[in-house]
Amino acid sequence: MTQDRSATVVGAGIVGVSCALYLQREGFKVTLIDRGGPGEGASFGNAGNLGFASCVPAGMPGILKKVPGMLFDSDSPLKLRWGHALKALPWFMRFIANSRPERVEKIADARHSLLSRLHEGYDPLIADAGAQDLINPTGLLMTWESEAAFAGAAYGLDLRRRRSIHFETLDGNEARQIEPALSQSVARGIYIPRLAHVLDPLRLTQTLARHFALRGGTILREAVTGFEIGPEGPRKVLTDRGAHDVATLVVAAGVWSRPLAAQLGTDVPLEAERGYHVMFHPQDLSLRVAVMSADRYIAVTHMKEGIRATGVAEFADPAAPPNMANAAMVRRQAQALLPRLKGEPKTEWMGPRPSHPDSKPVIGRSPRHKNVIFAFGHDHIGLALGGITGKLVGELATGKTPSVDLAPFRPDRF
Ligand SMILES: Cc1cc2nc3c(=O)[nH]c(=O)nc-3n(C[C@H](O)[C@H](O)[C@H](O)COP(=O)(O)OP(=O)(O)OC[C@H]3O[C@@H](n4cnc5c(N)ncnc54)[C@H](O)[C@@H]3O)c2cc1C
Repeated sequence: MTQDRSATVVGAGIVGVSCALYLQREGFKVTLIDRGGPGEGASFGNAGNLGFASCVPAGMPGILKKVPGMLFDSDSPLKLRWGHALKALPWFMRFIANSRPERVEKIADARHSLLSRLHEGYDPLIADAGAQDLINPTGLLMTWESEAAFAGAAYGLDLRRRRSIHFETLDGNEARQIEPALSQSVARGIYIPRLAHVLDPLRLTQTLARHFALRGGTILREAVTGFEIGPEGPRKVLTDRGAHDVATLVVAAGVWSRPLAAQLGTDVPLEAERGYHVMFHPQDLSLRVAVMSADRYIAVTHMKEGIRATGVAEFADPAAPPNMANAAMVRRQAQALLPRLKGEPKTEWMGPRPSHPDSKPVIGRSPRHKNVIFAFGHDHIGLALGGITGKLVGELATGKTPSVDLAPFRPDRF
């Protein structure tokens, strides 16, 4: 492999590590910079789903009527720190504008264009790193606990069907045959066969990062504070430890990409949609499939270290202290959905989903500097999209025509 070109990636979450690996495969000498260890941001604690069926955006028709009630309902998964409300207001206004049916169709197309290729992105990376044992393709079961709630999901299911996503529609008993641990209250379900989940998301990012280092990549544990900009764009990355020359620069710092992009002259409406998880001790209960309760707004996955329940979308400053009452709510919901899930969680966690108001990531060249590529804002599907994002960044960096149309993901679309 010739390494006469160099690239620097800021952020070693699943997206940044995947970008670094693809740049390396394209022959770049790559430096990956993170202020922490690989995978310790949002990529640490997600539900693990490689959800190729997640083309449905968060903002769906009718959301405008639902949001105010949800904000004042203490059991709702939607939370807004009131001190953050003014800052988040423009984001919410854009989010609502994107919930019109004609926008939703386009957003679903764009998300599907990436999600339908998620395995094309990951398979080579996972095979090379020998991480296949972390992938469990047992399918995903989505559940509803009333006919009315299921009827309310019809448009979302139709969006999937029209994009050729295959699923089986089930009554409550059929759902319990697939996952016997479900509560008797489950009335309807859909089962998406072959949908895989990651058995330890942190370990996946760490394994890929280790493989990157073994192949000659450099990992620096430093916090990026700014850039030195020359006539051709940024020529140095400034960190708490010093300065590093850059040729091609990739910003893949999850929700923290917003201030870095701003320093590079691009404003993006990126908000932290903070999610929580609780991990239960290994116990008698074992789940056959990954479960997502549409009406409880939680996902529950059996991982290597135990059962993990995730949920909540809390709009707050990413650096604000977590509110573990949200984790307690996830726990209550999980134990109601799965009555045999017992005991106190062994750990609780909060992490920020990096979310744009149009439910699409930014993947593309900076409009200001031709040596800068942005890759961030993957909201609820960043684990699923890490590999394909990396592949596309590799293609952009080498000047190839990207294998997915990147127009819907342009950084200057807002
Ligand atoms: C509760 C929950 C459940 C989820 N479930 C799923 C799921 O089932 N499936 C799915 O596909 N997605 C899921 N997601 C979303 C997914 O986890 C994220 O979209 C994804 O992890 C984002 O990855 P990232 O690499 O962009 O960001 P991150 O993982 O947050 O990585 C960003 C990195 O940048 C570093 N960084 C930031 N600023 C700087 C700086 N100035 N200098 C140096 N380093 C910096 C950080 O330290 C961090 O390591 C879930 C998220 C949550 C919170």
